[in-house]
Amino acid sequence: MCLNPFISRSVSSGPVTRFSGRPCRIAVIGSGPAGFYTAYRVMTKIQGAKVDMYEALPVPFGLVRFGVAPDHPEVKNCQEKFEEVAASPDFTFVGNVSVGSPSDHPDGSSISLSSILRHYNAVVFAYGASKDRTLSIPGESLKGVYSAREFVGWYNGLPEHADLAPDLTQGDEAVVVGQGNVALDVARMLLEDVDVLRKSDIASHALDTLSKSKVKRVHIIGRRGPMQAAFTIKETRELMKLSDVAFHPIDNSLIPTDPTKLPRAPRRLMEILLKGSPTSPAADNTTKSWSLDFCQTPKAFLPSSTSPSQLGATSFERTSLSAPFDPKAYALGTGITHEIPSSVAFRSIGYKSAPLHEFSDVGIPFDEARGIISNDGSGRVQHEEREPGAAMSLGSFPGLYCAGWVKRGPTGVIASTMQDAFATADAIAEDWGAKVPFLNEQTESNALGWEGVQSETGVKGASVVSWEDWRKIDSAERERGQQSGKEREKFVSTAEMLAVVR
Ligand code: FAD
Ligand code: NAP
Repeated sequence: MCLNPFISRSVSSGPVTRFSGRPCRIAVIGSGPAGFYTAYRVMTKIQGAKVDMYEALPVPFGLVRFGVAPDHPEVKNCQEKFEEVAASPDFTFVGNVSVGSPSDHPDGSSISLSSILRHYNAVVFAYGASKDRTLSIPGESLKGVYSAREFVGWYNGLPEHADLAPDLTQGDEAVVVGQGNVALDVARMLLEDVDVLRKSDIASHALDTLSKSKVKRVHIIGRRGPMQAAFTIKETRELMKLSDVAFHPIDNSLIPTDPTKLPRAPRRLMEILLKGSPTSPAADNTTKSWSLDFCQTPKAFLPSSTSPSQLGATSFERTSLSAPFDPKAYALGTGITHEIPSSVAFRSIGYKSAPLHEFSDVGIPFDEARGIISNDGSGRVQHEEREPGAAMSLGSFPGLYCAGWVKRGPTGVIASTMQDAFATADAIAEDWGAKVPFLNEQTESNALGWEGVQSETGVKGASVVSWEDWRKIDSAERERGQQSGKEREKFVSTAEMLAVVR
């Protein structure tokens, strides 16, 4: 059942009258790749479409700025496309404004979702995944246990995690639980020569901490085997090539005896794992080392014997695989446990999206199990309907769409997020062309977009960051970077960012 009066009005009030010449007003919530690629495509496909993009932070680009590793500057080239989108007169950036949830910093504004729903024809949720999955095992709150998401945010200057101050000085062994590309990013940050990172846009507080790190050995631990691992070729090769960093050979029994018969991608990956690194763990020039420890599932983070609040070791149960070479194999516990000394541990088992606070009031369904907004796969937000005496069926909410990680879950690189955003934009264009109901179509004054929201909520002025304002922050960061030989020196607090604008 649809509970929201704004949504149900569009559905129930008979044939839709579109006011001729009126543009399609679209609110996009989130300025990561999903938001920008949806905006780009929809503005291309619907003539005269006007997009207002709401972003909780004063700065745009989501995980392109706060997730992608600082030593991967080429990945951030997608920002050039986003700049082009933002240059359109039909595009407005509304930064430092959180939608449907309180702002997470004191200088930010917050706008209710119902207010957005009153002023647009369509709303696209593209707000990503700002939580992470937990292991729910004992000791997860010990000092020295960090979430990879927080650590990544910290080294990338995300204001929310600027004060994380991870302690990398308690010992020389680190554990990373999970074997996705985020785990490999975390390991690379711990192992890479600080002088290489110095030239990147890494936050300066991270550079300081990493330069004092005592970590020499990193275990990246997965509950399944190499044939099931989530990390990919390029990222594995990069770790193998780190100067003076050795890879500990893997257990060959988990790799098919003749990898040449595998399809190309797993074959290349297995070859890289079998070949290992140019530096051997025993060589004189080896400064640091790492391993991929397969078939181990975490059981507990254990306190150190000298300091009960500090992590000292991580305990794992060995697993066996239902079929070692089947990419879909599952892991079974063997009951055999062991401990790995660890002064620091990172939980890297995936990000997680959450519903916006108002979803339940407004009647928007969130699939908690999958951590996504319920949708038809093309991005149309869906709900279950049951007419009296009829079977359950699925219905779409007029004008509500989703894209990116909040649509399909927290996996996929920027290229797949782009494809996914294009599919959502195509669905919007198809629905607009087919004249299916959208929001606020029957009232001429209602779909005024950001103007309407401003006059209703009074949010405006100093607290809102426009695209021009972002350009000023961008220039100031680049100037600061020049002084220290970096591409950019990011501001790591929203107060610093806003001081540039004001
Ligand atoms: P996001 O990029 O997370 O964007 C969501 C945006 O919504 C954020 O700006 C957020 O602040 C905003 N937001 C959240 N809540 C609200 C709200 N209530 N109101 C307004 N705004 C809100 N892919 C690659 O191709 N190459 C890489 O090297 C790479 N490295 C990665 C490294 C890490 C650590 C991670 C986690 C991912 C990486 N990816 C990489 C994947 C890539 O970042 C994602 O595919 C992509 O960012 C997902 O886009 P999105 O727009 O769905 O989410
Ligand atoms: P991911 O790729 O989904 O990997 C998650 C890892 O956590 C898997 O190894 C998974 O193992 C493990 N895991 C999940 N639950 C677990 C549990 N309870 N106990 C133990 N292990 C558990 O997620 P991610 O690493 O966060 O990456 C997210 C996305 O961003 C991916 O698509 C990734 O490719 C992308 N990304 C790309 C880059 C890049 O291109 N350079 C960099 C970073 C991230 P199972 O498989 O056994 O579940």
